[in-house]
Amino acid sequence: MATTNTGQPAPFATASSSAAAARQSAPLHHPPAAGRLTVLTGEGALDVLSRSAVLESQGRHIAQLAIGEPQFAVAPHIVEAAVQALREGDARYGPPAGIAPLRAAIAATLGSRHVEASADDVIVTPGAKPMLLYAFLATVEPGAEVLIPDPGFPIYPSLTRFAGATAVGYRLDPARAFAPDAADIASRITPRTRVLVLNAPHNPTGGSIDARTLEEIAELVLRHDLLVISDEIYGRITYDTDATPSIAALPGLRERTIVVDGFSKAYAMTGYRLGYGLVPRWLVPRLTTLVVNGHTCTPPFVQRAGVAALTGPQDSVRAMVAELRRRRDEVVAALGAIPGIRSPRPSGAFYAFPDVSEIIAATGLSAPQLASRLLEEHGVALLPGNGFGAAGASSFRISFAGTADAVRTGLAGIATGLAAITARPA
Ligand code: PLP
Repeated sequence: MATTNTGQPAPFATASSSAAAARQSAPLHHPPAAGRLTVLTGEGALDVLSRSAVLESQGRHIAQLAIGEPQFAVAPHIVEAAVQALREGDARYGPPAGIAPLRAAIAATLGSRHVEASADDVIVTPGAKPMLLYAFLATVEPGAEVLIPDPGFPIYPSLTRFAGATAVGYRLDPARAFAPDAADIASRITPRTRVLVLNAPHNPTGGSIDARTLEEIAELVLRHDLLVISDEIYGRITYDTDATPSIAALPGLRERTIVVDGFSKAYAMTGYRLGYGLVPRWLVPRLTTLVVNGHTCTPPFVQRAGVAALTGPQDSVRAMVAELRRRRDEVVAALGAIPGIRSPRPSGAFYAFPDVSEIIAATGLSAPQLASRLLEEHGVALLPGNGFGAAGASSFRISFAGTADAVRTGLAGIATGLAAITARPA
């Protein structure tokens, strides 16, 4: 008999409702999706976020240290610029590569970081992520090898596979603020290597690349005729220096580097979806065609907010970085006091990447098992480092960009939680 979705018999069972019920209980059959989709992987942070939401809906309090999203207010003049643009009806299609004032403001910002940039070489996108996708599709040939940091942002290996290539991880040195080692990168270059991905300040370690190492890497890029995708989304969030040097500022590198950046982190504009690439001139027309195929244009009213962000007062960026610096010191001190944890000092972004291998050895639990117990039993959401590559298997990623309260209670919860788990691992 046909039933309703409450399990009650349907008041008027018809032939078609019986057929619908039969269709529902039969195994789904459909043609397969394109094979290339199977190589894409997501981000662990989003899974932990949804599990945290379930626990919160059950009345639990969760200290959120998993997601890399600044919980800081967007500056009022930025919000106002978007609202004003909407009131003026600036919500139609715009130029694919971005509105002229924003491209000019981005070029000027990059210029202040010694990168030679013209507005014509800037392509605006709805977030940095679409620019990463386009950059990989535009530069990575099937069968090629792409050098990516391990640990690193999980989207890099995913997009590498999507482009039909192989990701080859290079090492970061915890003893040198997680800087890459040029000799290690050199040892991994083969005739098939085509693209080198750099990310500084770095997700998930908070590491950076010192000027000398950057020069050594630049020399390798030129010698081996590589292209560079330089993800500089955390470029404004540095604690011990004013700004992060860009490889695109070094001689001969600008025409073989795509600089990827955006507004999500420095201006806390995650939900506005606004990012960009500074692209070598020879690649601009084709990459713009990719934009036309992918998203037509970035919403113009959002771009007007971006102009306000770059050309208006920078007080909110400075205030946020000052608060994050205070938290960085709080995190390093608190983690340093926990037995079995070694935590290098992050110099940028808003992540700490402590090594918990001693706790893994003492408890027999893996980093994902420890992270899961911290969430389920102690209300602390953080990420196990294995989601960032094999080299992260004995680490946690801790984001201190959430609320100050989450950082304080989360650090206390990690200390008491790890002590309790170590005492009773089973
Ligand atoms: N690149 C890195 C290294 C990131 O950590 C993130 C966000 O977490 C992005 C890019 C994506 O930024 P957007 O929000 O602009 O897409």
